[in-house]
Amino acid sequence: MRTTVGIIGAGPAGLLLARLLHNAGIDSVVLESRDRAYVEQRQRAGILEQGTVDVLRAAGAGERMDRRGLRHDGIELRFDRRRHRVDFPRLTRGRSVMVYAQTEVCKDLIALQLKEGGPLLFEAEALAVEGAESDRPAVRFRHGGREDVLECDYVVGCDGFWGVARKAVPAGLSRVFERTYPFGWLGILADVAPSHDELVYARHDRGFALLSMRSPSVSRLYLQVPADTDAETWSDEEIWDELERRLETDDDWTLRRGPITQKSVTPMRSYVHEPMRHGRLFLAGDAAHIVPPTGAKGLNLAVGDVVTFARALTHRQETGSTELLDAYSATCLRRVWQAERFSYDMTTMLHRHPEATPFEERLQLARLDRIASCRAAETDLAEGYTGFPIG
Ligand SMILES: Cc1cc2nc3c(=O)[nH]c(=O)nc-3n(C[C@H](O)[C@H](O)[C@H](O)COP(=O)(O)OP(=O)(O)OC[C@H]3O[C@@H](n4cnc5c(N)ncnc54)[C@H](O)[C@@H]3O)c2cc1C
Repeated sequence: MRTTVGIIGAGPAGLLLARLLHNAGIDSVVLESRDRAYVEQRQRAGILEQGTVDVLRAAGAGERMDRRGLRHDGIELRFDRRRHRVDFPRLTRGRSVMVYAQTEVCKDLIALQLKEGGPLLFEAEALAVEGAESDRPAVRFRHGGREDVLECDYVVGCDGFWGVARKAVPAGLSRVFERTYPFGWLGILADVAPSHDELVYARHDRGFALLSMRSPSVSRLYLQVPADTDAETWSDEEIWDELERRLETDDDWTLRRGPITQKSVTPMRSYVHEPMRHGRLFLAGDAAHIVPPTGAKGLNLAVGDVVTFARALTHRQETGSTELLDAYSATCLRRVWQAERFSYDMTTMLHRHPEATPFEERLQLARLDRIASCRAAETDLAEGYTGFPIG
């Protein structure tokens, strides 16, 4: 098999890249190790930044998102039983975010790719990237019980944190910057209308809680738990009781309970691999970087990377210049580090670190109080949340 761009992974990064390249008249092949149903049902992100929404619309993938997605103009911060709303459009000259699940983004992009785009092979596992430093890189993969080779002009590793693409960068050239956290998120999906019409981020002495939603009838909620927690050790009643405690306020707000349909624990990690390019291999999305989910940045960073790659390759095809491809890693990393900083700040401000001193706990409250009382601090949060510019 031969193509211009070999894409490993059909998560949001790989699928959107295939769509952007198709729209630019550049052919690609997508290899995905899982089956279609698994990819379409894997529960993950749910917040699309303004820039991501604009990209999906411009790519012709925004029709269902605009019908079903929920535009959100703010979030609520809860601490010390107080409530503070951050109004995005007021602070960012009209920007907002969209609540639209990653599963739905993937479904939309898969449907478009299968209808109009190049080959998208499910249950096709990439085994290795070969010849990244040559003009003819290739992906060795297994599909239908057979090993095959996909020859390409470029390979883009969109295969997530556990993929194979990153391993093709020689160890001597890789630099890894990493932080793990001693806590994770116990996340639930529940068949009940959300108890608030915007996301609520709560800092509580017992730990962080997040109230979020997938639709007007489905709630998504999270609790900070120790990193090694088994989700099944929490009964449904214990989860609702704990959410109620951590989200408590001084007014008459109440938490609606309903049947829990899914439960899982997500670890928290900050990770950046530099560089994001080696020869003709480019890394995009979680294959190159991970953020803790507190800032809702992971999917949005993946979108920024593939937009940058598609622009750079289009520029190369139109002008013959490799200038933008050569700048790919530096261009992406600038935005990646801003998102890493934002996600780290949100995480450390809102979570209870098991070794935090009373002094550090007071500092957390002071940071929240500053946001609630100072427009500059609040604007900084609103700008970070609605998204840093791409490119
Ligand atoms: C609980 C949770 C909540 C989150 N909330 C948010 C949020 O609100 N906002 C946000 O922006 N982000 C959020 N994120 C992060 C976001 O989900 C990820 O950053 C996003 O999925 C990255 O997309 P990706 O395409 O780079 O990688 P992935 O989605 O991981 O996709 C990689 C794909 O590659 C495939 N693959 C792996 N190895 C191979 C191989 N060898 N061969 C072929 N295919 C392979 C995988 O099966 C997968 O389909 C959240 C994550 C979690 C876990």
